[in-house]
Amino acid sequence: MRLVVQNDKNIGSRAAAGHRGPAARRPRTVLRSRVHGVLAVLTVAAIASGCAQGGVAGPGGAAEGPTPGRHPLKAPPPAATPEPPARKFRSAQEARAARIAAARRWRLDGVPLTPPPPPAKKPRITTRKGFEVAGHEELGLPPVFTTIPTKQRVVFLTIDDGAEKDPTFLRMMDDLQVPYTAFLSNYLIKEDYGYFGRMQRSGVVLNNHTLHHPYLPALSFRRQQIEICGMQEVIEERYGKRPLLFRPPFGNYNRDSLRAAKSCGIKYVPLWNEEVFVDHWDYREWDRKIRPGDIVLTHFRGRDDWKGTMPDMIRRFLNKVTAEGYAVARLEDYL
Ligand SMILES: [Zn+2]
Repeated sequence: MRLVVQNDKNIGSRAAAGHRGPAARRPRTVLRSRVHGVLAVLTVAAIASGCAQGGVAGPGGAAEGPTPGRHPLKAPPPAATPEPPARKFRSAQEARAARIAAARRWRLDGVPLTPPPPPAKKPRITTRKGFEVAGHEELGLPPVFTTIPTKQRVVFLTIDDGAEKDPTFLRMMDDLQVPYTAFLSNYLIKEDYGYFGRMQRSGVVLNNHTLHHPYLPALSFRRQQIEICGMQEVIEERYGKRPLLFRPPFGNYNRDSLRAAKSCGIKYVPLWNEEVFVDHWDYREWDRKIRPGDIVLTHFRGRDDWKGTMPDMIRRFLNKVTAEGYAVARLEDYL
């Protein structure tokens, strides 16, 4: 059974105090909302630190505790980064050998597990209890969730914002064939749209994380619509596809956010159950465990923000999920 710590003022204020990034400016008093249900949503969302810069305590405490399968971060990769070989395999054995070689090239502890094929019957996605807004179902608003209902040992990697544009990271993910989903904010990606175009061509779906990454509940419906629907336009114009997935900055939203998102074609609002940093993990659940179907959050960040690179962070992520018997699957395959 899952236990979600809700309306815990200590956790909420500690989380807010720990933010050094944009979240530090978000108004905490807005938590007193008139809309039923939003209080719980905002407080729970504050538990996990999405988008904030330093580490923020999860429900269990200030830092990652000893966890089975946790591996210490190794030294950064050598200056010459490996080039992935051309990928055309004649047999399953050859593909397997390539995966082993890629894992070795990127100095992983083990070979990432191969995910099962996409489910023939998609799971029914519903809003997580405590994350609803007033009239959620009646208005047909997109579901807000932190995990995908599945018994398969898979997790889903999602990467937010877009500040760091590390070409080595693109090569690594391509070489290892690890799927992920990007949630992009225009003010960060506009300096290099081409980087995310390369990401898209390697099979990554580019999704919506607003134009300017604001704290949405402080904005009017119209302003939220500009932030969310404006980003729909940017992605469609630049990359030729209108996103179906939207993630609110910091995981904070209210009913207007979901109404605005729905008005421009958003079908799903995935949040996350764990967040991985370059040097630790944070958990939403009290027992600090990964579960089948969990959505994992991380960010496009590099040495300017944390003590390591994107590949360092991916190494930490993959070493843990592989050691615990999880494969990384594509979120869109389950929606
Ligand atoms: Zn963000």
